Amino acid sequence: MSKNTQYDQLNELSRRAQTLEGISRLLGWDQETYMPKDATPVRAEQLKLLTELSHEAKTGPVFEAQLKKLIDLKTGKIKASNLTQEQQAAVRLYARDFTREKKLPSQFVQDFVHHTSQAIVTWQKAKAANKFAMFLPSLKKTIDLTIEKTELIGYKTTAYDALIDEYEPGITTKEVDAIFEEVKAGVKPIIKRAPKPKKEIQIDCTLNEQLEMCHELLHDIGFDFNRGRLDVSSHPFSQSYHPYDSRITCRDESDSLIVQLLTTLHEAGHSFYEMGFPVKAFGTPLAQAVSMGIHESQSRFWETRIGRSRAFWKFFLPKLQKRFKKELKLDDFMSRLNQVQPSFIRTDSDEVTYPLHVILRYEIEKELVSGKLAVKDLPKRWNAGIKDLLGITVKTDVEGCLQDIHWSMGAFGYFPTYSLGNIYAAQMFEAFAKKHPTWEKQVEKGQFGFIQEWLHDNVWQHGRRYDGNDLIRKISGKALTAKPFINYLNEKYS
Ligand SMILES: [Zn+2]
Repeated sequence: MSKNTQYDQLNELSRRAQTLEGISRLLGWDQETYMPKDATPVRAEQLKLLTELSHEAKTGPVFEAQLKKLIDLKTGKIKASNLTQEQQAAVRLYARDFTREKKLPSQFVQDFVHHTSQAIVTWQKAKAANKFAMFLPSLKKTIDLTIEKTELIGYKTTAYDALIDEYEPGITTKEVDAIFEEVKAGVKPIIKRAPKPKKEIQIDCTLNEQLEMCHELLHDIGFDFNRGRLDVSSHPFSQSYHPYDSRITCRDESDSLIVQLLTTLHEAGHSFYEMGFPVKAFGTPLAQAVSMGIHESQSRFWETRIGRSRAFWKFFLPKLQKRFKKELKLDDFMSRLNQVQPSFIRTDSDEVTYPLHVILRYEIEKELVSGKLAVKDLPKRWNAGIKDLLGITVKTDVEGCLQDIHWSMGAFGYFPTYSLGNIYAAQMFEAFAKKHPTWEKQVEKGQFGFIQEWLHDNVWQHGRRYDGNDLIRKISGKALTAKPFINYLNEKYS
């Protein structure tokens, strides 16, 4: 049997695991969109079965034996001699995932899942009652388990490295610290000088009208409805199961069609990324996302760099005017769209204040995991942080530390990827604009194919072959830096 066939066999096993994961996510999509309410218990049973099967498929003895034929798991040395560079990269990624997964004993994983599934319910109740104290014991246990997790996974410098590595492989806490310091220093003066908020631009429309506009927008930017769909759920999200099957959702935003359209661009950016993976490599790391930060860079690229640009609205605003028979001046519209206003809620905030919300969560997570901050003192720490960063006073836990679901899910290490997404996107955009200096002229005319092409060539087609740092260096010739992001904001709010 040739070595190459062994590589193909490993891919077959992985493809099986990924197909099972795809089915389970598809059931999750159905649960959020069309599933009848009473099906909840049976859906939980279906998902449990699929999780067991896919876990076995990617960590079981069959997969391990096949993987060991290609790489020495202890030394990381590739054993197969005739693999291409790309195939070697894939094998290293298989080994990385496998080794990380194996470090967590299945009893620990079960305990973690069991605890967090209850913690989510506790958090929902605490949020409804606006009382952090109700969530405190549960969060305390999540943090204990999270600390245990970092010990099981291991780390070189700081425990937080083991957490962030799950979502942003290859990046260290030290690197994130330096980048976020740059962001903090760059953003604070912009908030001070940014113009005061303008009056809301109201376009009243029904859910059906919103969906019509979103479909039109998606058609315009080149979303392929033969390979994807748009539906309604309580929170907008994007999911892909294969490059030929991508789902995005939106929620009823009767108050703000603008938010609706920007959110649709955001979710479409996530979808484009996965629709652009090489179909032939489906099931292998060469058709997977690099990291959560790179995934987020793809959504932010469309939402902020295209969707908040004047060029885009020169093209799309006339469509709104025609559809809703409303006089909308481009200048008014642009200043409303790009206003800066410190807000308590992360998901409601503008692109200047947004990173500060993320940085606060990141700093708190590090303090909780290192034991520097006692869990009971979290609200006090949170409120002082918001006051310091945004100059506003938090009055209740709901507008403070109870607002996000992430900690109830045990997703420590996730938050930084949101801002890294903006930072990656800005650095990518700089390279994109260098290649396409007349991008605005094309966007004004409703041409978007060249954007897809650039993203495909520079990001999508590589799958996970490069980590975030290597990919951004390959695209821009520089290591990851917050400078392009800060420059972009400075120019916009000068
Ligand atoms: Zn996103």
